[in-house]
Amino acid sequence: MAEDGTQALVAQSTEVAAPAPKKMKKIVRKKRPARAQVDPDFITSEPPPQTGTIFNIWYNKWSGGDREDKYLSKTPAKGRCNIARDSGYTQADKHPGSHFCLWFCRGICPKGQDCEYLHRLPGVHDIFNPNVDCFGRDKFSDYRDDMGGVGSFMRQNRTIYLGRIFVSDDIEEIVARHAAEWGPIERLRVLNTRGVAFVTYVNEANAQFAKEAMAHQSLDHNEVLNVRWATADPNPMAQAREARRTEEQAAEAIRRALPAEFVAELEGRDPEARKRRKIESSYGLEGYEAPDDIHFARGVQAVNPIGRRGFELEDEQQRLMLDMGDGQQQNGGYGDGGAMAALPAPPARPEEEDGIFSSSTLAALQSAKVAEVPKATPKASAGGPLVAYGSDDDEDDE
Ligand SMILES: [Zn+2]
Repeated sequence: MAEDGTQALVAQSTEVAAPAPKKMKKIVRKKRPARAQVDPDFITSEPPPQTGTIFNIWYNKWSGGDREDKYLSKTPAKGRCNIARDSGYTQADKHPGSHFCLWFCRGICPKGQDCEYLHRLPGVHDIFNPNVDCFGRDKFSDYRDDMGGVGSFMRQNRTIYLGRIFVSDDIEEIVARHAAEWGPIERLRVLNTRGVAFVTYVNEANAQFAKEAMAHQSLDHNEVLNVRWATADPNPMAQAREARRTEEQAAEAIRRALPAEFVAELEGRDPEARKRRKIESSYGLEGYEAPDDIHFARGVQAVNPIGRRGFELEDEQQRLMLDMGDGQQQNGGYGDGGAMAALPAPPARPEEEDGIFSSSTLAALQSAKVAEVPKATPKASAGGPLVAYGSDDDEDDE
């Protein structure tokens, strides 16, 4: 299951790798620099349209009033991100744990390779603290009434709502084609006659990216899309599926964070493990058995030799990977950056190396816990334009 996801990512990412002669293997993986999507003066040339009552000079935007949505709902986005053409490495690829560039996502980042945010598509390794989205923006305790904005940290939401889609015979194909640009899709549901679709991405970061990338865009016609977070599907089967999925993700994060030997042992796939554990974790002390957090600890200081494996070389390897762009150990193409981003974030390093799980694992676990808290009242499908999930046909895809 996990392997599938990874493989899909690899397959996808090789498309962008520049073709190069065979003998220069290292160079093949060297990523190209990110492309500046717009002219630098594109951003500063015009003040934002008046969409509120007060202009906030710090945020360069209007606040107050409710005209924003009315205005935006008729105004197409200024740019459009083209992943194949625009993505590449930026300053952010040198810093594990960097966030994605919101302007890149909207197709209007003028900085190219000088940008301090990532200019690529999020992948399965891009897991962030559940309190922020992939662009590093703080989430809120609850959704906005219109289900727009950054979203809530109370629920891992991988489903976006697309409204105002031009209704045509091939609407389903059109939506699928456009939505797939922003990452692997787990589930797509199109309400053909209503011009509405729900897109569930495999990864939360891709849903966040897609929501921004598709906002106020058009698909094959001249529509201006209305993109929101989907409300929680009230169907118990869908909820069970979501809970299962969250657990899988947490487990997957743990698998990635631990050496294979430890994982096999933890999952009980290794019948001899119990016996070995008894001997190994005594560390030469009669009758002693080290508790899990010591036995499974990773890092340079780990007591267990398996836990130390690889850590002595880690800094050197990271340097090499960055210099040569050689990400084959993890996966190729986007994966270079993706793998880097998934490594434990540097500021918190000292504690992490002693701990059993990396911060991203803990983040995943934390979000898993949060997601299991039953939400008392699913918001009454938040008013006007939103259409609640039709849950009638959920049986057929189980
Ligand atoms: Zn940027």
